[in-house]
Amino acid sequence: MKHSLTCPKCGSKDILHVRRLADRDRVSTGVQHLAYFEKEILGGLAKDTSGVGRLEAYVCSACGLVEHYLVEPIPVDGVHVVALRGPSG
Ligand SMILES: [Zn+2]
Repeated sequence: MKHSLTCPKCGSKDILHVRRLADRDRVSTGVQHLAYFEKEILGGLAKDTSGVGRLEAYVCSACGLVEHYLVEPIPVDGVHVVALRGPSG
């Protein structure tokens, strides 16, 4: 949807670009980032997270489909962020 400006679900060409997504909970508001947990603890995940990239969204104004994209590439450390490649051909 980002490059085609066409909704892959319904075919609409009426697309909205949300440039700065808000990340909001009951106590704070900020710019939404893709983040991961650095540590796993017994029975759950540690509360500390690392932000690795700002997110933007493209929204189909006809059906409401939302696609999120990273604004810039993120670092691949092989532990928290792992590079995958689909089959060729
Ligand atoms: Zn749509």
